[in-house]
Amino acid sequence: MSLIEMQNIRKDYHLGETIVHALQGIDLEIDTGEFVAIWGPSGSGKTTLLNLIGAIDEPTEGSLAIAGTNVHLLSDNKKSELRNETIGYVFQGFNLVPVLSALENVMLPLQIKGASSKEAKEKALYRLQEVGLTEFIHHRPAKMSGGQQQRVAIARALVNDPSLVIADEPTANLDSETARMIISIMRDLNEKDAITFIFSTHDQRLLDRVKRLVRLEDGRIVDGGNPLTGMGMGPGTHSVSALNSSRSEREGEAPTAWLVEGATQAPLSDGGTQS
Ligand code: ADP
Ligand code: MG
Repeated sequence: MSLIEMQNIRKDYHLGETIVHALQGIDLEIDTGEFVAIWGPSGSGKTTLLNLIGAIDEPTEGSLAIAGTNVHLLSDNKKSELRNETIGYVFQGFNLVPVLSALENVMLPLQIKGASSKEAKEKALYRLQEVGLTEFIHHRPAKMSGGQQQRVAIARALVNDPSLVIADEPTANLDSETARMIISIMRDLNEKDAITFIFSTHDQRLLDRVKRLVRLEDGRIVDGGNPLTGMGMGPGTHSVSALNSSRSEREGEAPTAWLVEGATQAPLSDGGTQS
């Protein structure tokens, strides 16, 4: 059973008289433990797709199952439960509460759920330490850099122990070095804690640590719609792995060179499992 199973998903937006066909027949399966980038130009449907995967929005047509449950059949309560218990979100532009410290921002989702301050604080401190922010826990967002704020947002997404984290353009407002660091942190969490990550980006410089690339164009998947099996990857399946080289060694390479190089041939030599 896949964590995410989408079949022939369509999403239309109605803008007055006009209908925007944002997603035009998406078939997508994502397994537990994957680290997936949804990559495509602006307007290709990335945010729309992530909002469906995150049960924030509903498709116009098609079926969507999350962890084996058809989202369409869930009551509103069950859907909130799914969102609160299973999924962590990193929204575009951080969305931190300005008057709260980093620690308080990360504690917030637990406190909303009714956890004690002690438990909320312990879990929040652990997640902030994981993203390397122990020294900044009492800082407010305005006193932090963009990269630090994004790390707070990641810690906040993790504090409920989700099995899936969805991040919409988590590096959009960051310089490329910071962007790489954010992807690295997410990838480390993916490996260490076996958390599934699905994130969108339009920046192909960031894709060398991605296990799987799903390419979106005009609301359609043009590459990478099926999970990698590790053997006999079918046509249209696209593996972009870090291989065994360190990032610094790869830094000088033209992005398209390794993209083509990694396509369809590269096994998951970075130890990723795709069960
Ligand atoms: P991306 O995140 O890749 O930039 P989006 O999912 O935001 O793409 O948008 C896909 C298409 O749907 C675009 O043409 C966009 O203008 C349109 N769209 C997105 N959200 C809405 C909305 N709420 N109302 C109308 N059109 C929308
Ligand atoms: Mg978007």
